Amino acid sequence: MKLYSTNHQSPDVDLAEAVFRGLPPDNGLYMPTEFKPLPSSFWDNVQNLSLQEIAFEIAHALIGEDVPTEDLRQLINRAIDFEAPIVKVEENTYCLELFHGPSMAFKDFGARFMAALMSYFLQKSQKQIHILVATSGDTGGAVAQGFYKTPNIDVTILYPSGKVSDIQEKQLTTLGENVRALEVSGTFDDCQKLVKQAFLDKDLTSKFDLASANSINIARLIPQAFYYVSTYAQLKKSGADLPVVISVPSGNFGNLSAGIIAWRLGMPIKKFIATTNVNNVVPTYLESGIYEPISPSLSTISNAMDVGNPSNFPRMKALLDNDLEKMKELVAGYYYNDDATRAAMKDVYERTGYVMCPHTAVAYLGLKSYTNTLNEPVSGVFLSTAHYAKFLDVVEEVVGKQDIPQRLSDLLSLEKQATPISTNFADFKAWLMENL
Ligand SMILES: *Cc1c(COP(=O)(O)O)cnc(C)c1O
Repeated sequence: MKLYSTNHQSPDVDLAEAVFRGLPPDNGLYMPTEFKPLPSSFWDNVQNLSLQEIAFEIAHALIGEDVPTEDLRQLINRAIDFEAPIVKVEENTYCLELFHGPSMAFKDFGARFMAALMSYFLQKSQKQIHILVATSGDTGGAVAQGFYKTPNIDVTILYPSGKVSDIQEKQLTTLGENVRALEVSGTFDDCQKLVKQAFLDKDLTSKFDLASANSINIARLIPQAFYYVSTYAQLKKSGADLPVVISVPSGNFGNLSAGIIAWRLGMPIKKFIATTNVNNVVPTYLESGIYEPISPSLSTISNAMDVGNPSNFPRMKALLDNDLEKMKELVAGYYYNDDATRAAMKDVYERTGYVMCPHTAVAYLGLKSYTNTLNEPVSGVFLSTAHYAKFLDVVEEVVGKQDIPQRLSDLLSLEKQATPISTNFADFKAWLMENL
């Protein structure tokens, strides 16, 4: 597999280099140089394959010989050890539940695959890799779970004190072993700044092999293509043969980029819906052709999508040849404020009993707005990116008391272990020097 930089100023690399570098030296994003569509024999038979079998075929098509066939199969079975079912919520309307992994959010797909891939590449060397990651909530939990007890890798997570939910904090701070949490007396931006500075610090980089785990790593993107194809397969298996529309609740637009990768590999789809909260940079771009970052980003109840300058958007553009007209043919954009989001959570719950987290509700709204413009029936799918219990405050305020899955309630009784730290880089550096 060869990967190029979207800024075209850095040399092409193989998969291992792209995964450990994270970002190319020219600050672009790594992208595969080619997408060979899977043969029609695959698409004809896809309804008979499991998620893991589909994952193998998609990964193999993308990665090629960078990981030998049998190793890749094992790696996938280890990383994707949970399901992604579609649940029928209304006539011709399905929810793709992406929250059945260990942190109960869709970021488990990316984090677990990245951990398995890094660990595979590291087996051959004797190197110890140190992952540094800043989180505003969901990323940290998925990364912590994904890398937990992975040989040759340790993880340091920085999170803003008092600015993540109880459950999120417990997910970051209770694992122990090779996962450590630093509780920063500042904002998410402060955490991110500290991590960025560490990667630029000569003393640290000459002493340690540092790596990042944020959403721009290509290893996080690849596994997200798996569940789009699995959605298509599940619809086909259920006998639904209408055109498919998929609505993606979006922040940094990694998730939607992976959907477009599935399309580039040959998955039949009528439309993707790029649905956001009021951080509506991409829906606005689709309408006006003008890309205007929102800074600082606006706070909403779907806070994992509070992104004012989506980091994966260059990938989405590259996948569509940087052509706005092509993008508009495949992708429609919609956005909603918190009132509309709450109203959708309440409406769907009262009519169907289905409980949605705020991000999921945004996706539901985007799907409905689009399908209402059509004169033909379609199979509509909205992605559920997190279990509702991860956003219990809002959920209970809107739809009343709900059950918490055992896995999350057990977590709340565990004791938090985090090291408090200031926003001063010298403190962070001293801690790393002493503790890595
Ligand atoms: C990260 C996240 C999103 C946004 O996904 P992107 O790939 O950044 O667009 C949506 N919902 C939840 C719950 C998330 O954690």
